[in-house]
Amino acid sequence: MKTRVRFAPSPTGFLHIGSLRTALYNYLFAKGLGGTLILRVEDTDRTRLVEGALEEQIESLAWAGVVFDEGPHVGGNFGPYVQSERFDLYREHGMILVENGSAYYAFDTAEELDSMRQRQQAAGIAPKYDRSSMRNQYTLGEQETARLLAENADHVIRLKVPIGTEIRFTDAIRGDVVVNGKEIDDQILLKSDGFPTYHLANIVDDHLMEITHVIRAEEWLPSTPKHILLYKAFGWEPPIFAHVPLLLNPDRSKMSKRHGDTHVKDFRQKGYFPEALVNFVALLGWNPGTDQELFSMSELIEKFSLDRVHKAGAVFDFKKLEWVKQEYIKMMDPTILAARILPDLEKAGYPRIEIDYVAKVIALLRERISFLTDLVEFGDYLFSDTLAEVSSETLATIKANAELVTALTAFANGLTPEAIADADAFKTYSQQIASDAGMKMGAIMKPLRLAVTHREVGADIQQTLMLLGADRCKTRIVDFIR
Ligand code: GLU
Repeated sequence: MKTRVRFAPSPTGFLHIGSLRTALYNYLFAKGLGGTLILRVEDTDRTRLVEGALEEQIESLAWAGVVFDEGPHVGGNFGPYVQSERFDLYREHGMILVENGSAYYAFDTAEELDSMRQRQQAAGIAPKYDRSSMRNQYTLGEQETARLLAENADHVIRLKVPIGTEIRFTDAIRGDVVVNGKEIDDQILLKSDGFPTYHLANIVDDHLMEITHVIRAEEWLPSTPKHILLYKAFGWEPPIFAHVPLLLNPDRSKMSKRHGDTHVKDFRQKGYFPEALVNFVALLGWNPGTDQELFSMSELIEKFSLDRVHKAGAVFDFKKLEWVKQEYIKMMDPTILAARILPDLEKAGYPRIEIDYVAKVIALLRERISFLTDLVEFGDYLFSDTLAEVSSETLATIKANAELVTALTAFANGLTPEAIADADAFKTYSQQIASDAGMKMGAIMKPLRLAVTHREVGADIQQTLMLLGADRCKTRIVDFIR
């Protein structure tokens, strides 16, 4: 049987970092087995919809490189994968269960349900629909039920959880799970407005879409026994379930906004590379069984397996993310990075931004930046001859130092491309200039950098000068001490 998995987000907010991980694990699992990944939109709860959330989720997933084979907005007419367009289907399936005795009509009002809960609370028992005392098909009888239905009385359809059953399933990550039927509520399947609940729509779709593996967040684990009962009620074979562990804050509480960014969008906007974020997220709850920490997407596809996903919650370690981020800045192809930063450099209005040159700038400065976008400011002197302002005090101090001015003038006058072509030539040249002026070489390096770049810090000075070229350096030094 061909592997078919799905990522089934509800468009109730921006893509959470945990949802990216769920989508990614589904993607890696499907691709590793030559299977199919489906995007299904679970928008049955109309009250929680957030305008624009679906578009943002799809865009963030595409940004991260999680590519769907079927589903909305992936180029191609794959049929409806949006639950709100499939309501008739869920109603029909709800009725199948009523007819085969696995579900029933219930007519209780909100007040009646409230007082039931209060009674249960007072008696110290867990709140659960009490089929034997409430107003439903069983307590009212068939005739009264038929009359109420004919009258169009408000009603829901509930799952009839068989008394005395034990539900067992094997989770691909958590192993054998056994739940006593007594703990399971007679779940509402169709609401009084005729809309399905998550549970009904979810399993009808998983079945009709021929999903073989349900890989989803641990928070859905308590729902799974209900889902297993639903599969039984329809006479369908359930898929294999795999519940991935919770994401935790460093203090092991459930990950929340309070401790920092939680949406993929936040990381995108800050300038994280998708490759780095995906690499980091893949390791939240999965390990390859080796010391390797940096993985391309194709390596992840090759190495990922569900049996290496942990049961325990995964701590979102911001320090580790920073490390991964830095590693990607250091190791990615400078030409690819140059293409990414080009729009920002263009926006800044810089004149010197041909791609090969920008790639050289990146190779020179990448160890010194946190985000590629830092280059726009940090590397200004390499992209333009309009330089940053140097304070008048600093300038005055340098100009008042006659030996230094002599040295810098001599440095500019004698400068040739050969003198800055490599570290040795540069050292020989600078040492000569310094000793002619009666100074130490170290004493002229800082002012030299300042004269050429108008910045106190930067990359290796010889390489910086070489990248700028002798003529440009000459002009800048002369202008600086004029
Ligand atoms: N719509 C659910 C969610 O938002 C999907 C749960 C599942 O994958 O079954 O997470």
